[in-house]
Amino acid sequence: MKKGRFQNVRHLIQILSLIASIAILVLFIYGSSKAAHQFCPYAVVCFGISGAAFIKITQAMFGVAIAAGFLICILTMFWGRKFCGYICPLGTLQQAIFMLRSPKYRRKNRLAFFYEARLKRIKYLVLIINAILVVAGISYLYMSLCPILTIGRISLQSWKGIIVLVLILGGSFFTDRIWCRFMCPYAALLNLFQGIGTLFQVPRTKIHRYLESCIDCSICNNNCPMNINIADVEVVEDPDCIHCGLCTYKCPKPGTLTSRKK
Ligand code: SF4
Ligand code: SF4
Ligand code: SF4
Repeated sequence: MKKGRFQNVRHLIQILSLIASIAILVLFIYGSSKAAHQFCPYAVVCFGISGAAFIKITQAMFGVAIAAGFLICILTMFWGRKFCGYICPLGTLQQAIFMLRSPKYRRKNRLAFFYEARLKRIKYLVLIINAILVVAGISYLYMSLCPILTIGRISLQSWKGIIVLVLILGGSFFTDRIWCRFMCPYAALLNLFQGIGTLFQVPRTKIHRYLESCIDCSICNNNCPMNINIADVEVVEDPDCIHCGLCTYKCPKPGTLTSRKK
């Protein structure tokens, strides 16, 4: 498939997924305290994170959401985080907000890799704290912070959820995929599964850089929404790659960056 067409297809899938999510929010859960979890388009993420504690709950929808949440984790071991690059409505929303900025702003305002590497550890802490609270039966922290639940029932959600939502939407105007890169606990869980896959030598789709034809222009780096240092490696091992394909699309040397299994 041609690189431009590939991006169009990806955007189309993202838009359809976002429209479906908004439709579900409006039709089923808007302002509702009961239907919210059963119909939430983000349930696979939420119950994927809090799954263990919900096994005792009998409603079938929770079981489906937990299973889907973990199925995505398993698939990520083979394909990487394509869910984030194609399907997740919150990822698409952040991407759309950052696209409102000029190309020059998007290119110039990039965090140094030194700080990126440190800040992206926060999401593992969020996952660990959330998991401890859930397993100990103290609190479903993620639910009180969940940005999608906040959109769906803003009048019923706690102030903490509203703060998180404002932080994500406002922050996305200044920094690409701020929640995905630094704070999303589901991203941490998906990365954990990728780590397990690597441990057991499961071949995973990765971006490969052909050194012979690379001209070290760093255009790939300047366009990566996850701020990954592609131009300095031969294979992008970073589990935060969401397989958006923007680096391969923007690279001026055809065939230098390819996405394949290793
Ligand atoms: S990192 Fe989290 S919020 Fe971002 S696209 Fe992935 S699951 Fe969605
Ligand atoms: S955009 Fe292509 S040519 Fe430029 S540094 Fe990246 S891989 Fe090399
Ligand atoms: S490395 Fe390439 S495919 Fe992966 S997130 Fe960055 S731009 Fe997208």
